[in-house]
Amino acid sequence: RRCPAVRCSLAGDVVTASRILKELKSGCDTPLPVLRRVADAMADDMRAGLASDHSGSDLKMILSYVNALPTGNEKGLFYALDLGGTNFRVLRVQLGGKDNRVIDTEFEQVSIPQELMFGTSEELFDFIASGLASFVEKESERFYLPSGRKREIGFTFSFPVNQTSIDSGILIKWTKGFAVSGTAGKDVVACLNEAMERKGLDMRVSALVNDAVGTLAGARYWDDDVMVAVILGTGTNACYIEQIDAVPKLLSPASGYGRTIINTEWGAFSSGFPLTEFDNDMDNESINPGEQIFEKTIAGMYLGEIVRRVLLKMSKFADLFGKYFPEKLSTPFVLRTPDLCAMHQDDSEDLSEIGKILNATIGTTSSTLEARKITMDVTDTIVKRGGRLAGAGIVGILQKLDQDSRGLVFGKRLVVAMDGGLYENYPQYRNYMKGAVNELLGPELSKNVIIEHTKDGSGIGAALLAAVNSKYID
Ligand code: BGC
Ligand code: MG
Repeated sequence: RRCPAVRCSLAGDVVTASRILKELKSGCDTPLPVLRRVADAMADDMRAGLASDHSGSDLKMILSYVNALPTGNEKGLFYALDLGGTNFRVLRVQLGGKDNRVIDTEFEQVSIPQELMFGTSEELFDFIASGLASFVEKESERFYLPSGRKREIGFTFSFPVNQTSIDSGILIKWTKGFAVSGTAGKDVVACLNEAMERKGLDMRVSALVNDAVGTLAGARYWDDDVMVAVILGTGTNACYIEQIDAVPKLLSPASGYGRTIINTEWGAFSSGFPLTEFDNDMDNESINPGEQIFEKTIAGMYLGEIVRRVLLKMSKFADLFGKYFPEKLSTPFVLRTPDLCAMHQDDSEDLSEIGKILNATIGTTSSTLEARKITMDVTDTIVKRGGRLAGAGIVGILQKLDQDSRGLVFGKRLVVAMDGGLYENYPQYRNYMKGAVNELLGPELSKNVIIEHTKDGSGIGAALLAAVNSKYID
């Protein structure tokens, strides 16, 4: 199932950049009826994914095996490993229980070397285990681990994984530009354990969690009204708290628990939203064609690349940057979303900041004010579509929950925990997203829906889930 594609019709008339822009704008338009359609499709796909793993739904609706959420009583020293899109983080947390909560925390972060994204599974997991080993070596004495205990880890692994239990799961596929060989189909905890063994590191993974799930757990630790968590960063995803009896595919529900966290893997969603030739070309030339279409439309890894493709066409066919063609504009991914964001903040009359960034990124030597205005417009068009579709996705989840509870969800305070660099650092994207949520819900309902940033919640959340699922019972 693919989305309706809108192609620029260039036959005949003279091609101008403003004409390409006009077609782009209409091709990316997300008026309220489109947002509604997307929210409805999201809710439908969620239901289909919950019904069966063979429903053909884009949404995998993965069981997280997180059936117990942090209560605040968690105590002790726990670790988190976070392998995400661009960074790798190690974290240590001393939890003090109800009154003290997080007593102390320390972390280290490194960016993931490019070559590891295309290397072997062993290389990647050896890198993770080394990072962990050097972190543990430097541990100060103020962190206390009772003797006879192994250090316990919550492993945040931000890729689609078929969980087989709270501490094991099989990688379904890589996303976000990763193409590591030899991991798909393997238990990622086993991969990590083997790497730790190679390094002589004796720690144990007590919880394997997706970053969205970690964020939900981390936010819920402070606020009982958190029901949904959304990641808008390099990639995108959402998870939420579901009633076990609303999960038909769960044949033998664990008794005693009423609720669980479902990882939607909504990056794979593909229904009801507008795509253009630029999106389709990017997808076709990507390392995972046909996959992660929602992610490719709304997430940080791709927004800059879509804009680059539009500018490329404008300079090839309509001399956007004059007769001189900036060669670097032909290089995939040279324009990154942080560059878009920096250009988007330019509120000077002559858009000089945009000029500078174009020079620095795609190698223009000069640009006309007209070209800079068009660049701003293209950026705004792509970012607006992304933000608004993210908002529609959130409303789709809320809608599904509300229908199931016969209107109980929208009747009270409900928190959506947000994390990810795109959400955190891109004000226009954030505003477009919130705008769409408000448009869809209307002023009454949106009063109860709190969209809140949980900074680095997934790290603390994973450590908390390691505590909740500790192998040592006090
Ligand atoms: C992955 C998700 C992850 C999201 C945000 C997506 O590409 O499939 O598992 O949660 O990125 O990091
Ligand atoms: Mg992350």
